[in-house]
Amino acid sequence: MTTLDDLPLRDDLRGKSPYGAPQKHVPVALNVNENSHPMPDDVADDIVAALAGAVRSLNRYPDREFTRLRDSLAGYLGHGLTRENIWAANGSNEVLQQVLQAFGGPGRSLLGFVPTYSMYPILASGTGTRWIPGARDAEFELSAETAAAQVRQTSPDIVFLCAPNNPTGTPLSLETVTAVYDATDGVVVVDEAYAEFAPDGAPTALSLLPGRPRLLVSRTMSKAFAFAGARVGYLAADPAVTDALRLVRLPYHLSALTQAAAIAALAHTDEMLAMVDDIRRQRDRLVTELAALGYQPHRSGSNFVLFGGVDDPNATFEALLAEGVLIRDVGIPGNLRVSAGTEAETTAFLEALARVTPVVAE
Ligand SMILES: *Cc1c(COP(=O)(O)O)cnc(C)c1O
Repeated sequence: MTTLDDLPLRDDLRGKSPYGAPQKHVPVALNVNENSHPMPDDVADDIVAALAGAVRSLNRYPDREFTRLRDSLAGYLGHGLTRENIWAANGSNEVLQQVLQAFGGPGRSLLGFVPTYSMYPILASGTGTRWIPGARDAEFELSAETAAAQVRQTSPDIVFLCAPNNPTGTPLSLETVTAVYDATDGVVVVDEAYAEFAPDGAPTALSLLPGRPRLLVSRTMSKAFAFAGARVGYLAADPAVTDALRLVRLPYHLSALTQAAAIAALAHTDEMLAMVDDIRRQRDRLVTELAALGYQPHRSGSNFVLFGGVDDPNATFEALLAEGVLIRDVGIPGNLRVSAGTEAETTAFLEALARVTPVVAE
């Protein structure tokens, strides 16, 4: 049998592992931070109608500049942004990869603060960018001083700030973003994949964009918008940044079907985001109930909760799986991560966890 070792693979990819969150069919899947609420019927009907229209033009290449989609995304984000500020791709993972293609690459480096999103080092290795794993403060927080000191020390070409941070859920202050920006001449990306789950009125790095041409704020429709399967991510930045990304994107990278579906969904923003309140309630409930079960949930501004106090994460993960509940072992000792599901799913998780939690004698 041929193995990777037998192929003339790039040396810097030897020994690497691909992204691999398990995809298992279980009654309660709370492992990849999806929005587990089904799409409302009237939104689904509008998307189907838009797709039916687009299908008849599939003989032609799509709008390479996805102009209507950029208009829709700019309208959704607000903050005075226009289509010139917006870029989109097949998931924010592709957006981040394009950022590394344009601003990273061989001889250049990317700084992130671990534990953080597991795709960052994988995107770095795929683009030949050197990955620099920076450190966080206690409780996975990242203060302006801690972050800026490491930026000055390592002089990265790119910094990724995950806000709130995956897999810990930790919110990030705008002071940290501005301190990092001021400490580097490189590109600073704030990955706001979970921004919609922050408390109402919480600050977003979008407010920092004016006058900061090296600041990029990435978002996704995968989480709050319940659109993970469609693959739509985007960013807001100075128009010059979007021109840089045009140098590395594949021509016509966003299919006509993707553009049509996303535009139709964005026309129903209020309805698509109606589940966000419920998900935030389930997230807060997870924090309360996990503590009541004797675990240590960490501060979360996202749609998932990382909780410590797990003696044997693998054993608890497997025991929950046997109960039909899939969560995530993110490799942080003593911790597991669970996404906030529907009320019923969250209840199923909490009840299963109560059953598999060893009773400790006082
Ligand atoms: C889920 C997630 C993304 C989004 O990925 P898509 O490619 O848009 O589905 C980006 N960043 C972080 C930190 C995430 O957790």
